[in-house]
Amino acid sequence: MTTQLIDGFGRVHRDLRISVTDRCNFRCTYCMPEEGMQWQRREDLLSFEEIERLARIMVERFGVNAIRLTGGEPTVRARLPVLVAKLAALGVDLAMTTNGVTLPLLADELRSAGLNRINISLDSLRADRFGELTRRNDLARVLEGVEAARQAGFDPVKVNVVVMKGVNDDEIVDFAHFGRDRSVVVRFIEFMPLDADEGWSSDQVMTQAEILASLSAEFELVPVARTSAPASRWRYADGRGEIGIVASVSQSFCDSCDRVRVTADGQFRNCLFATGETDVRALLRSAAGDDEIAVALQRSVSSKWAGHSINQVHFIRPRRSMSEIGG
Ligand code: SAM
Ligand code: SF4
Repeated sequence: MTTQLIDGFGRVHRDLRISVTDRCNFRCTYCMPEEGMQWQRREDLLSFEEIERLARIMVERFGVNAIRLTGGEPTVRARLPVLVAKLAALGVDLAMTTNGVTLPLLADELRSAGLNRINISLDSLRADRFGELTRRNDLARVLEGVEAARQAGFDPVKVNVVVMKGVNDDEIVDFAHFGRDRSVVVRFIEFMPLDADEGWSSDQVMTQAEILASLSAEFELVPVARTSAPASRWRYADGRGEIGIVASVSQSFCDSCDRVRVTADGQFRNCLFATGETDVRALLRSAAGDDEIAVALQRSVSSKWAGHSINQVHFIRPRRSMSEIGG
């Protein structure tokens, strides 16, 4: 029987984000420290079978219809296409967020295994800056990855750009041209306080209004009606594509949030910024049946707060960084 994963504010949750590893082949400055990350032990990560069981409970009991694989970098998890095939068989809209660097090798296989959608993170088109931001010199490989994703048939390919003041805000128009020229949808993302180095401050956030002002100086943009997705969208008046802005900080979309998350070590989170977690791994590895696990998930969601309160005095930063939660 399907019930809904509903919280105390009436929000129904249908979008599950699964971090499949906390490891990454990059070290983006706004996400991970250069050194000193304590990786989770292999045996602490959920196995593919455990992920599949959890996903099945959520799909069959609660009508979850969208799953996104993330990390860390999801493609560093060995045999990822095997997991993709298992989850695709559940009949959900299956997506992945990746840094793109392994897509020249993996894009076709992931597509054939049943991955529907892909977002590639790319924060600078300048090789030197890309190197500083990711602490890896792989811009050419990521650009190849974008092309490989397109060639594999992902349509549209989305490129996520975290915009930080004084860091890459001078590339907003370059990214718009990039999207138009390569037929990819560029989504600008506001910088959030989930950086591992805890260096975030609100004056580094390039807000939706500021991003839009930069773009409007160069292009005529027409708003597109909003869906439940977090990105606000605009199309170019000349018909050459569209852009999105994810304004998590300046215009939080907590009111319509329909997402829940599970970390690579099997901790269920009812909000990106949650300060508490439910240990689903312990349940999956106990004698607990699906009913008991479903009750624990529902209990977690029913206690979800109204919103994240970034920029307010009572905001509490989560213990985990973005690379451990998955974005
Ligand atoms: N490694 C994959 C990647 O980079 O796409 C998936 C994991 S990454 C944590 C998921 C998304 O979070 C990426 O689009 C990344 O740019 C974004 N992200 C990481 N740290 C962020 C921060 N402090 N503020 C906003 N977005 C952030
Ligand atoms: Fe790795 Fe993605 Fe974090 Fe960059 S944003 S360090 S690619 S997990």
